[in-house]
Amino acid sequence: MRFRDGVTVSAATPTLTLDVALVGGGIMSATLGTFLQQIEPGWSIGLFENLKRAGLESSDPWNNAGTGHSALCELNYSPAGPDGSVDPKKALGINEQFQLTRQFYSWAVSQSVVKEPQSFIHPLPHMSFVIGEDNRRYLKTRHDSLSANTLFDTMEYTEDLDQIREWAPLVSEGRTHKNVAASRVVGGTDVDFGALSSQLVDSLAAKGADVRFEHRVTNIARSGSGWRLTVKNKVSAQTFFVDAKFVFVGAGGGALPLLQKSGIDEIKGFGGFPVSGEFLRCTNEEVINRHEAKVYGQASVGAPPMSVPHLDTRYVDGKKALMFGPYGGFSPKFLKTGKLWDLPGSVRTSNLVPMLAVAKDNLDLVKYLVTELMKTRNQQMEAMREYYPAANLQDWELITAGQRVQVIKKDPKKGGVLQFGTEVIASADGSISGLLGASPGASTATPIMLGLLKRCFPNQFAGWEDKLKEMVPTLGHTLNQDSALYQQTKESTDRVLHLA
Ligand SMILES: Cc1cc2nc3c(=O)[nH]c(=O)nc-3n(C[C@H](O)[C@H](O)[C@H](O)COP(=O)(O)OP(=O)(O)OC[C@H]3O[C@@H](n4cnc5c(N)ncnc54)[C@H](O)[C@@H]3O)c2cc1C
Repeated sequence: MRFRDGVTVSAATPTLTLDVALVGGGIMSATLGTFLQQIEPGWSIGLFENLKRAGLESSDPWNNAGTGHSALCELNYSPAGPDGSVDPKKALGINEQFQLTRQFYSWAVSQSVVKEPQSFIHPLPHMSFVIGEDNRRYLKTRHDSLSANTLFDTMEYTEDLDQIREWAPLVSEGRTHKNVAASRVVGGTDVDFGALSSQLVDSLAAKGADVRFEHRVTNIARSGSGWRLTVKNKVSAQTFFVDAKFVFVGAGGGALPLLQKSGIDEIKGFGGFPVSGEFLRCTNEEVINRHEAKVYGQASVGAPPMSVPHLDTRYVDGKKALMFGPYGGFSPKFLKTGKLWDLPGSVRTSNLVPMLAVAKDNLDLVKYLVTELMKTRNQQMEAMREYYPAANLQDWELITAGQRVQVIKKDPKKGGVLQFGTEVIASADGSISGLLGASPGASTATPIMLGLLKRCFPNQFAGWEDKLKEMVPTLGHTLNQDSALYQQTKESTDRVLHLA
């Protein structure tokens, strides 16, 4: 039999039998594999990654912004309502999710599953910065609404440029605007999701998982009560089968086509809208060393929520860095290392209506992406000067960010809608699942994978809870409603992760 991508298999093709097959070595598979290895140490686990190492696609530190998303500074998680008020609900939900993620990291460090915390996480103030009266009023309302909650009670607010200079000197340098405002939470984080994925996957392998890099999964088909994966070893060009009882398609942008190949009903009607991006990376050490924060602003009209501009300190391979962006763009690829055929190849009769409806209803987004694509280097610098007025063109280089594939799904009224969050797809029997979408992304890998375990293994989950609570102690609690538990948990994770 010959598949479209040129892979040939026959009756003599060798077969590997596993309990669990993880497709892709990004933060999602790495997190799920770590949970499964702890709660079911007897299960055989295999991980198949197309690239040379784990964490090289969207999870790579230069492909994302490394923000430990907790809604401390990202204004898109707390938009103003029609009456100007700010509902804290969504921001609280995002923050609660990151509290679980912090506990998982803390467990991983304390158990030597990963190396020292500085190899992947750093404390970093999270700031929001706005210009103009409407934005100032909004930021003040947002501060008052969020800071009344336990999870946000350390949020500071100022309209004083001298205070902003103290918090982030680059933001005030050369600024002539008078009507500015900023908020800040000192306890934010920068996370190198690439380093974390790679260390988690190394640990999986060290504890017996069959981890194979440069192995591409080319097909997934039903086989009895489980699944048969066709896997191509890119080095030897050999193809083999993997028979697994449970499959997780953690292939990032590559998840949609693989789930479509599996033929499960649950993927029907879903499509993907790829958004590419670029960042400006600072090359001047002196400038890099004068900034120590993630500074998020307001998105432009029509911009997707995750394209909010931000001036970010990063820590990559232990070295401090600074970047600004993202600048949006369009490419039909579903992965940075993907193919131009990815988008057209994902169109099916079942998702054609939703995809056309999204194209028709999102002209603002299309306009935004086209405008971004047409921007000259000088125009890109102008966008950055909103945040760093004295920025000098010579100090910055352009880098290509990771691809995001936004979820398109059926909608009974509109035909189809574009969704900016993530969506777990799972077959009715729970034997195969996958993750579509991007935001809030890597920061929520822990709660997303815990939710996936509950959904795919409803009969086993209760029996796993004690073990899971060793890894994520406040699982099942709402920390915003229990300030004593929150303080105690925060102090202990801060101590282990060297965040205090
Ligand atoms: C510009 C940008 C900025 C972002 N900023 C942030 C941020 O600040 N904070 C945050 O939390 N999140 C952020 N995200 C989102 C975050 O990067 C992603 O949600 C997260 O990395 C996704 O992890 P993943 O494991 O699903 O995918 P990936 O990391 O992409 O991993 C998927 C893996 O699957 C492999 N693969 C694909 N197809 C196959 C196949 N057929 N066979 C075998 N292997 C395959 C790929 O090579 C890849 O290694 C950002 C994303 C982008 C693009």
